[in-house]
Amino acid sequence: MNRIRQNIKKIDARTAFFLYYVHMHEVYLDWAATAIPDPFALQLQQEVCHEFYGNPSSSHNAGSKARGLLEQARSLLAGQLDCRSDELYFTAGATEANNMVVLSLVKQALTLKKEFSSYTVVISAIEHASLWEPVLTLKKLGFKVKKVYPDSRGIIRADSLVQALDKQTVMVIVMLINNETGAVQPVAELVQSVRNYSKTTGRKIIFHCDAVQAVGKIPFSLRELNVDSACLSAHKLGAAKGIGALFIKKRLELDFFYGGGGQERNKRPGTENTAGIYSFSKLVEKRQTSLQKNLESAGRVMNFLISELKKLSRVVLIPKQRAENDATHYSPYIISMAFPPLAGEVVVRVLNELNIYISTGSACHSHKKERTRVLESMGVPSSLAANAVRVSIGFQTTQADISAFLAAVKGTLSKLQQQTHGS
Ligand code: PLP
Repeated sequence: MNRIRQNIKKIDARTAFFLYYVHMHEVYLDWAATAIPDPFALQLQQEVCHEFYGNPSSSHNAGSKARGLLEQARSLLAGQLDCRSDELYFTAGATEANNMVVLSLVKQALTLKKEFSSYTVVISAIEHASLWEPVLTLKKLGFKVKKVYPDSRGIIRADSLVQALDKQTVMVIVMLINNETGAVQPVAELVQSVRNYSKTTGRKIIFHCDAVQAVGKIPFSLRELNVDSACLSAHKLGAAKGIGALFIKKRLELDFFYGGGGQERNKRPGTENTAGIYSFSKLVEKRQTSLQKNLESAGRVMNFLISELKKLSRVVLIPKQRAENDATHYSPYIISMAFPPLAGEVVVRVLNELNIYISTGSACHSHKKERTRVLESMGVPSSLAANAVRVSIGFQTTQADISAFLAAVKGTLSKLQQQTHGS
């Protein structure tokens, strides 16, 4: 508090107001890590939890009632995502769903008595750790792994993807929206190019897509994307943590390692979190209903942020060509930037002291190299990638939140940049 008072004395009234604002409020700009829980989802979950308390697998009335609600949730979610309800499996989040899909290849190879080295997996270099790490496990086991690098905008191009395919390719992994840069991947086009390649070899290639940062935020249809499998996560929308869903296209046989009570048609056994799943599905419905309105509002907030940052010589947007109003290539909910020479961790810590919460890329970086993997794959120099931070906005972010962030950028961060340059 003393530090804030001292700062306030030295700066202009407008900046002082925003420093006061951030002291009074927490400015949450880390929605891509997790969303602030939505009161609608929380309340619904609590209500449903009391009324539908039975185990959905129990044969008595309390069980059947819970089973009914679970299936209601499944068809509601299927309707929102444009798929069949028997193509959806509830999981404990997207990390689990992604691991299930990747590691299913091990089970398949073992069942078919195939050498691991006879399988190629093609993965984009910008995937979340929950896909990257299990694919590295496959590599250690002897699978052939090929990475596809994005262009300097952070976008995977169909020609780069096709170049990585070979006759042994069994799986391709490309996400829908990158969680660090917000870059929207042309998934439908990529799927089509993989399908065309598949026709020439006669070998089926599974296309898996991580749709975590897209669900309820940008319009898409699983049917139109034509992917074979996809994952989603409840807490990125404001529902409970530890809930997700895995879409597996009808007639695609993926076999997983789990064994248990046979829930989720034996693919993901374990007692379902009925109330959490139901409130998640209802929240997806709510987000879909207001998707356009939210998108426009996020677009306005993001455009304001970008245009203001572009006026500041000490700020580097990543990628540099990120422009206002570019909804075709970037989600308006996520942006990456750097304040050289400040390390990303320093920026996060300094802003944290001002009650402004952002992050260095993904929340799930296990080691330093992993922290800069995505940005470096786009050609961002490693020193700049180490300076990078991610700002991600959400359904409640206001222009005042962004102004508070900008005041800190122009004040505290700019001063620190100057001092660090000078030292
Ligand atoms: N995929 C992406 C793109 C993400 O951003 C995240 C969350 O950080 C995940 C997967 C993991 O989701 P969950 O927290 O549900 O395991």
